[in-house]
Amino acid sequence: MTDAGVLIVGAGQAGYQLAASLREGGYAGPVRLVGDEPELPYQRPPLSKAYLEGDGSGQNLPFRPQAFFATHAIEVRPDTHVAAIDRNARRVVTATDEMLDYRHLVLATGTRNRPLLVPGHDLRGVHGLRTHAEAEALRVGMQAARAIVVVGAGFLGLEAAAVAAARGARVEVVETTRQPMGRAVSPMVSDAFTRQHQRHGIVFHLGAGVVRLHGEAGHVTGVELSDGTLLPAALVLVCIGVIPNAELAADAGLPVANGVVVDEYLATPDPAISAIGDCAAYPNRYAGGVVRLESVQNAVDHARCVAARLLGRPTPYHAVPWFWSDQGDWKLQIAGFTAGCQQFVPRGDTDSRDFTVYAFRDGRLAGVETVNRPGDHVAARRLLATDALVTPEMVAAPDFDLRKAAKAAQS
Ligand SMILES: Cc1cc2nc3c(=O)[nH]c(=O)nc-3n(C[C@H](O)[C@H](O)[C@H](O)COP(=O)(O)OP(=O)(O)OC[C@H]3O[C@@H](n4cnc5c(N)ncnc54)[C@H](O)[C@@H]3O)c2cc1C
Repeated sequence: MTDAGVLIVGAGQAGYQLAASLREGGYAGPVRLVGDEPELPYQRPPLSKAYLEGDGSGQNLPFRPQAFFATHAIEVRPDTHVAAIDRNARRVVTATDEMLDYRHLVLATGTRNRPLLVPGHDLRGVHGLRTHAEAEALRVGMQAARAIVVVGAGFLGLEAAAVAAARGARVEVVETTRQPMGRAVSPMVSDAFTRQHQRHGIVFHLGAGVVRLHGEAGHVTGVELSDGTLLPAALVLVCIGVIPNAELAADAGLPVANGVVVDEYLATPDPAISAIGDCAAYPNRYAGGVVRLESVQNAVDHARCVAARLLGRPTPYHAVPWFWSDQGDWKLQIAGFTAGCQQFVPRGDTDSRDFTVYAFRDGRLAGVETVNRPGDHVAARRLLATDALVTPEMVAAPDFDLRKAAKAAQS
């Protein structure tokens, strides 16, 4: 029987990395990368940052040119949506009823934008931001729009808001909670970034819901808030989170709970199926439980972990999570997992553009947020990778030195 090899569904960050890592590690069987977008795998982070600033041509988004995939015998199938998995027959069925066999199947299907389900959500001028096509539509729309409303004050919404404000648009951000990025960062970092955006003219409506989008001749003209306020808008960007693309797994009888549930090897209960990247819910010791993370590091490291397992070197996945967000000229970097922490100790002036926040869960250091301090971020990753006990009292001590602590913990 011929070897059906590794079939990867989803040709994004994780899917691309897995294919590349398999070949790098010497995997000799067939590798197929099936994705429903029309282009070669590309990076998403620039789409909410530099791509929006430019003319759409200057950004080299694809991870690799076509020649790379040909040279490495990686079969890339764009425009191919996988509709079902037949686990008994070990094959998937595409939306055009094609059957693709696998020896091992890896789900790298990522997430999709959570829709804003209010009247007017389908007016022209209302944008989402995930794909290259969506970023291009947003970039073009932002060139003309003088009044922009961003719904959702998460990382993506604030990154795009900063670009729009720098271009001279009037930018208003609507957020249902009282704390921008509050799901993922400490109150200190949230407040510092909010103040910084306000200094650049961005107006925040916190604790406010959107009840309706108004329009004229099919184009959005305004955003109505729950308290009756009407914000004028020529463009609305909706960034209210994502939904994991886990239906394929659920329909195939695999466990799904906010993502495809996998173990510490990123394996589903079916030994022939793994899940990686944004779509995978996995046990993470830094989070103290099962999480689904949306970050480049998570996607890349998951892919490397599964590649190693498929190459006969199974290792449990325990990498320190890390993340970055560029908002205007401020860089936020997070090492570890600060969401859900109960205690935060800032070092440096949180009113400045240069400080660090240590986050503690149950009295132990769980994450470190740095603002414009890349050196500290790297040291924090090193420190968190050790089992060193770091307490709030230790980091609050005047002579605490993060880089020395990381060095000492590693030796
Ligand atoms: C605008 C933007 C900015 C970002 N900025 C940052 C940043 O600054 N820092 C950071 O760490 N992270 C950032 N991220 C997050 C990061 O890009 C993601 O975590 C990463 O792309 C996840 O990789 P993935 O392969 O799991 O999913 P994706 O890259 O989303 O790829 C999944 C692919 O699977 C395809 N697919 C889904 N279902 C099917 C199916 N049934 N059949 C075929 N194909 C399917 C999808 O269309 C998609 O192409 C950003 C994301 C976005 C959208």
